[in-house]
Amino acid sequence: MAEDWLESAEAIGAVDDVLASVGLAHGSRKTLSGTWKGGERVKKLRAAKPTAEPRVLGEPGIVTVPAFDALPWLRAGFSTRAGGQSTAYGDGELNLGWTREDEAVNVAANRERFVRKAMRETAPGSAAIPELVTIRQFHSGMIRLVEAEHGSLTTAEGKAVLRGDGLLTDCAGVLLGIQTADCYPVLVADRRTRAVAAFHAGWRGTLARIVERGVGTMKLRYGSRAEDLVAAVGPGIGACCYAVGKEIRFEFESQFAYGPELFSEVYDSDPVRDKYPLLFLTARAPGHSDIGPQIHIDLAEANRRQLVDAGLRPENITVVGECTGCARDANGERRYYSHRMEHGYAGRMMSVIGVV
Ligand SMILES: [Zn+2]
Repeated sequence: MAEDWLESAEAIGAVDDVLASVGLAHGSRKTLSGTWKGGERVKKLRAAKPTAEPRVLGEPGIVTVPAFDALPWLRAGFSTRAGGQSTAYGDGELNLGWTREDEAVNVAANRERFVRKAMRETAPGSAAIPELVTIRQFHSGMIRLVEAEHGSLTTAEGKAVLRGDGLLTDCAGVLLGIQTADCYPVLVADRRTRAVAAFHAGWRGTLARIVERGVGTMKLRYGSRAEDLVAAVGPGIGACCYAVGKEIRFEFESQFAYGPELFSEVYDSDPVRDKYPLLFLTARAPGHSDIGPQIHIDLAEANRRQLVDAGLRPENITVVGECTGCARDANGERRYYSHRMEHGYAGRMMSVIGVV
């Protein structure tokens, strides 16, 4: 039996089937080639499911932050996956990204519902909703300013025009939106000038110091003072769930004096492996390497440190602290979309901030 077959999706699927037959579901694993194959199997299962009628379950899920809510002119929040009409990833979900798997009509309806929720509109349709500005994110350090005379930043279908990973504005009536499914959304508001910012920070954007540089740009363009800024680091994949390669550790340790503090070493203790060791002789679980511990990174702390280095007072920074990889709702459902935990077959959350 060839080595590459052992690492193939078929082999991993076969082991998963064995585990499933004894009532055990195993976590996701990565193949040698580094691509998530599990997602392919999920897609086939989903495709076989008859299309359900759109069904809205409850209010759109939103996580708000007291420091933002205390500012009467500000609207800000982070979405969860509950309370929409998408069926691509589970019934009645609030997918807010134009993903391949979801229907655009559902995403558009979800976006409108979420924006109204974030605006705290009690009666649907009671007022014109603000302009939602999003960007085509690409894990960069690129920051975009939305000016008063900014022209159209959205296509007729509601898709973003500009590329970038940070948005700044000092205009009222504009809602800045960042999409994530494991990466960190970071929102900033200036209590004095009423400028706002939204950033998309995965490991690449964090390494590019997008948040630290973005606050610097607020100072430069809007005259913001660090002591007037309040910020929140939203839900993202936690140190509990985010194993990375050692090259990422080297990068962060080279770039940040506090780099070593961002990493923890986690020794594998998988109850399934412990109970059925023979199963794992033929299908190795990558990331569960037999040489040394896994390295986990704390990107929430990395972005909090960038806010501190940009001059924000620690008491003005809220870290939501929920992990998109493992947080569950009260009913036991996954609370957030997770690109990593769902093998790339995931919807998107949206984080918004704007001035009314
Ligand atoms: Zn976690």
